[in-house]
Amino acid sequence: MNTPADSILVVGAGPVGLTAACQLARLGVAVRVVDALAEPTTESRAVSIHARSMEMLAALGVMPRLEERARRIPALEMIDGRTGTVRARLDIGGVPSRHPYILDIPQPDTEAVLAERATELGIVVERGVRLTALTQDGDGVDVTLTSRDGDETTARVGWVVGADGGHSSVRSFAGVKLEGGFRGQHFAMADIDVDTSWAPDAIRMFTHHDGMGILFPLAGKRARIMFMVDDPGTGAPDPTLAQIQALADTRMSGDVTMSNPRWLTWFEVHHAQVPQYRLGRVLLAGDAAHIHSPAGAQGMNTGIQDAANLGWKLALVAQGRADAALLDSYHDERHPVGAMVVKSTTTLTDIGAATGPKAHLRDAAFFLVGHLSRFAGVAADTLTETSVAYRDSTLSVHHGRAAVKAGEHAPDPDGLPVAIEDLLATTPGFLLVVDGPEHEAELRKTLGDLGSVVAADGVLARTYGWPIDGMALIRPDGYLGLVADSAHPDVLRDYLSRTLRIAVPSWS
Ligand SMILES: Cc1cc2nc3c(=O)[nH]c(=O)nc-3n(C[C@H](O)[C@H](O)[C@H](O)COP(=O)(O)OP(=O)(O)OC[C@H]3O[C@@H](n4cnc5c(N)ncnc54)[C@H](O)[C@@H]3O)c2cc1C
Repeated sequence: MNTPADSILVVGAGPVGLTAACQLARLGVAVRVVDALAEPTTESRAVSIHARSMEMLAALGVMPRLEERARRIPALEMIDGRTGTVRARLDIGGVPSRHPYILDIPQPDTEAVLAERATELGIVVERGVRLTALTQDGDGVDVTLTSRDGDETTARVGWVVGADGGHSSVRSFAGVKLEGGFRGQHFAMADIDVDTSWAPDAIRMFTHHDGMGILFPLAGKRARIMFMVDDPGTGAPDPTLAQIQALADTRMSGDVTMSNPRWLTWFEVHHAQVPQYRLGRVLLAGDAAHIHSPAGAQGMNTGIQDAANLGWKLALVAQGRADAALLDSYHDERHPVGAMVVKSTTTLTDIGAATGPKAHLRDAAFFLVGHLSRFAGVAADTLTETSVAYRDSTLSVHHGRAAVKAGEHAPDPDGLPVAIEDLLATTPGFLLVVDGPEHEAELRKTLGDLGSVVAADGVLARTYGWPIDGMALIRPDGYLGLVADSAHPDVLRDYLSRTLRIAVPSWS
């Protein structure tokens, strides 16, 4: 690789590294991707993709391929694990998204689809290549890469994305540590086939005084099962099918019979986050930046959304189009989301482990969530991450009276023939949706090749709630950057140059 100051190295070809690489490539930035593993993982790991991640994956053009391999799950149920009584059902169908369901799919399938997309975009994932050293100065990053044969090469790159997972080397070389609770909660996990009378129409959380059990239906008879357990001890052999079956017999009301084990393992979780996502020219994303319990299945989802947030900003900066300060907004927007996820998954795990009076409180809370629509709505939006917004971000600029606020994820305007995510899929870059035709030509000129303009002919006024003649600039990650009830080119120019610090116009 030559060493221009604008080149990007992505370390890690897991779901987060691949998402970041695909987004960078779509925006016209050449990217190098290395992964220490000679072959992709076969471990099913994260099995649920949530609505907000699906919106971002749709913009990468991979949703039909993911759907082919997955099962759509419309709800979550809380069950008394001793009796099999359903205590609460949380329907996802009402979340504000075109994907009002959970997509259950083994992580290797998600990675395979993203890897295929990366190949289409011209990315070659260099496998069996480990990052073994990293130092940076004001102008670039020097990295050492070591092959499986032990051959070392060095390179100087402009930027490094550390998507190298929970044990991130990028993180340690950049001199930052995870901070949080290393309490070591333990799970037994199984990727198996199940025979059960429970229909595969919900993720089911079975409460039990020994610890929670969770059943995720995958395609066909395949399922992921997890149980909270006591520490199995260092070096304990993997659990046997008989052990997992015994746990299911006790905690899943005796109605789950397992066969065909693909992966049985113990899994220890910690809850922690780095204090900074941007360390000069090094950006951390996904598990490299935050680790937490699998409760709520937020880990991979939060990481995919980190990558979508980072990708377009890094593309602009690496191309010399925007000031590097734009990258600070990556930390500012995503760190609070990561902190919230660490907190909520810690709480959910503790709730799942509750016994005695606390367990009664938990059951009462589940009942309320399941039966009061206001609580249910908040819970569903939080679970599917559709409540994530950046309203207080310095990148969110709002002029006028529109009901939809800058920083919110752009809702599909009612009456536009295609969805925002489909428009983003066909238009790498920003999407400027304009109601007022008066300045359309000038707005197109101002936006240049940063994206495309969609004439909405009044439909924004209906959905976004402004009088008429408004515009909304939708970022490549689907969030509203600028919302203005006057579609004047000066307002757009000011936003691009002063808020995003982009030299206007043109991407390349
Ligand atoms: C056993 C297990 C079970 C899990 N179960 C769930 C679950 O049920 N639900 C859920 O939401 N999440 C679960 N997770 C977490 C989920 O897998 C992660 O949140 C997700 O994989 C994060 O993606 P990532 O791309 O950030 O990191 P990873 O998927 O870990 O990918 C990191 C990549 O970086 C590569 N790498 C590491 N170091 C280097 C280096 N120095 N140089 C080059 N490459 C390197 C690795 O080979 C790997 O391919 C589980 C994780 C584990 C380990």
